[in-house]
Amino acid sequence: METYTIRPICAGIFGAAEKSNFSYQKDAGTKLAAPILMYLVQGRDTCMLVDTGCCGEAWAAQYHHPLTQTPEMEPVRALRDLGVEPEEVTVIVNTHLHWDHCFNNHRFPNARIYVQRREVEFALAPVPTQYTYYESPQLGMTPPWAKAMDRLEVVDGDFRLQEGIDLLFAPGHTPGFQCVRIQTEDGPYLIASDCVGLIENWEENLTHGLPTPSGIHVDLREYYDTIRRLLPLADAAHILPGHDARALEHSVYPPR
Ligand SMILES: [Zn+2]
Repeated sequence: METYTIRPICAGIFGAAEKSNFSYQKDAGTKLAAPILMYLVQGRDTCMLVDTGCCGEAWAAQYHHPLTQTPEMEPVRALRDLGVEPEEVTVIVNTHLHWDHCFNNHRFPNARIYVQRREVEFALAPVPTQYTYYESPQLGMTPPWAKAMDRLEVVDGDFRLQEGIDLLFAPGHTPGFQCVRIQTEDGPYLIASDCVGLIENWEENLTHGLPTPSGIHVDLREYYDTIRRLLPLADAAHILPGHDARALEHSVYPPR
């Protein structure tokens, strides 16, 4: 069976992020350093990104939350440091279209970009509390993903991308959210991104026995349907989160 390696990339750090944004109403007032994560997936003939990271410091300070981005964290530079030129990336999967997950789609000119139909529809007309997350047209902004709209591959629900790589429809954090299951030599990994913002939401910081959702979501009932569906998959897999520094404990997964 085809297997892959996964490299976490820190594209920036929210220095003082509100923890309850990641863990529904838990530890309100607690601040934490939250990396903005994207993942490089490589196989024999595969060079794929799961999410493309965030903007730079000035744009973030103006429109979002202040973040730190050293030169080494800038996504194209970070990939070059791993030996990958932007032109070599042939597939991008966006877990969702919040700005900190799709900001650099257009910088990978040869990539087909996989996103859920429901996510595209919602990104064009989100609920007002999420306008800024999408840099939506209602604010007079051009959503970052629209710069590479001609390369979108719009999918509906679960989708087998190729042997060993599956997109799993996982609405909740956003209406068209998707996780990515990757087969490795050490079994499956689940790139859960913002569905599991912090690992502790899934492991110890439970709510009545079930994992705790993100504080940012559009539909909690759908979110819990997703959690129940993912639980057996996640138990059998290693989870890679959206904004947890624990993802950076290893430079490559499976660890060598
Ligand atoms: Zn998000």
